[in-house]
Amino acid sequence: MRANLAVARAHAAQARVWAVVKADAYGHGLANAVQAFARADGLALVETEAALRLRQLGWSKPILLLEGVFEPEDWPAMQAAGVCCVVHTQEQIAMLEHARLDGPVDICLKINSGMNRLGFAPAGFGAVHARLRANPKVGAIGFATHFANADHADNPDLPMQEQVRRVRLALQGLHGEISLSNSAATLLAPELAADWVRPGIMLYGASPGGGSAQEFGLLPGMTLESQLIAVQQLARGDAVGYGSRFVAPAPMRIGVVACGYADGYPRHAPNGAPILVDGIRTVVLGTVSMDMLTVDLTPVPQARVGSRVVLWGEGLPIDEVAQAAGTLGYELMCALTPRVRVEVKNGQPQGLEIHGNQE
Ligand SMILES: *Cc1c(COP(=O)(O)O)cnc(C)c1O
Repeated sequence: MRANLAVARAHAAQARVWAVVKADAYGHGLANAVQAFARADGLALVETEAALRLRQLGWSKPILLLEGVFEPEDWPAMQAAGVCCVVHTQEQIAMLEHARLDGPVDICLKINSGMNRLGFAPAGFGAVHARLRANPKVGAIGFATHFANADHADNPDLPMQEQVRRVRLALQGLHGEISLSNSAATLLAPELAADWVRPGIMLYGASPGGGSAQEFGLLPGMTLESQLIAVQQLARGDAVGYGSRFVAPAPMRIGVVACGYADGYPRHAPNGAPILVDGIRTVVLGTVSMDMLTVDLTPVPQARVGSRVVLWGEGLPIDEVAQAAGTLGYELMCALTPRVRVEVKNGQPQGLEIHGNQE
C-alpha cells in the first residue's frame, strides 16, 4: 500500500494526494491505512464515524468527507474534528445554515460535470458558491468533480474532455483548490492532476481499468489465503457440490478449500475461475458454497490437506479473479467479511497484508 501510494505520487508530481480510505480502506482496515498512507497529504472517505475514528487513530492531517454530511448533527461533529466536507446539495447548505458550529468549517463544492450522481451543475454554480462564501460558518472552499470514464476517456456518451470543459465552465472566476482525479485519471491522464488527486483502488494494488495492475506497477495490498481441508478422489461421472454443477469427465482429484461466500469470495465465480494451490495455478470447480469451494487438483498432484491456497493477491491478481466472476477488484476487496482473520505483515519490503482464515 505504501509502494502504491508512491506510484500515485509519481504520476501526480505537483498535486497533493488524498488517499481514499472509504469502505474500511477498501477492506484493508482503517488502522492499516493510517500507517501505510502516513505520507499521504490527506485521507478521504465517506463514513462520518470512520472520519472521527481516523482522528482517534492519530491522523492529524486533512480529512475529506466525499459525500459530505448526512444529518444536521454531522456538521458540528465534522467541524470539531477538522474534517473538510463535500457539499453537493441545497439540503446540505440549509443544514449548515441552521447548524451551531464552534468555528468555520472547510468545504469542497462538488461540480456535477456530467456523471449525474452528486453535485451542482455548472449553470448556477457561481450562485451556490456566492451563497456559501457569504456564510461566516464557511472557511476555505475547494472544488471537486468525479470522472465517469477515466479508464475509457473517449466514451462517446460522456468523453472525459467534456467533463473537463464543464468543470472550467463552473469554475469561471472562482478561486480555490481543485480535485478531479480518481485512480484511473491519476494513472492515465496525469496532466489533469490539478491541486489534489483522489486515488483509491490503485493504492490497494488493483487496476482501475485501462491497463493491468502490473502494467501500472502496482502491488497487491492484500492476499486472501486459506488451505485445503479435504481432498476427494472422483470417478468419471461423479458430481461436485450444490446443483452438481461440475461432473468429472474422467477420474480426478479435487480439493476442498475453507473459503466461501460467507468470507467474501464471489458466489458467482464460475467453473474455471483461477486459484493457486501450493503456488500452482488451477481452477475453481462447482458451485461456491457458504464456507467452502472446490478446486481441480490435476495440476497439483502433491496437494493434500493443509496445502496453502491463494484466492487472490500475491501471485494471482485480484483483477483476474474478479473478471472471471464478472465483477471488479473493487467489489471483491470491499466484500471481505469480518470472519476473515487479518494478519498484518508489516516491515516487509512491500508492506504486505495477509488476510487468511487458516490456523
Ligand atoms: C471512491 C472515490 C474515489 C476513488 O476512486 P478509485 O476509482 O478507487 O480511485 C475518488 N473520488 C471519489 C469522490 C470517490 O467516491
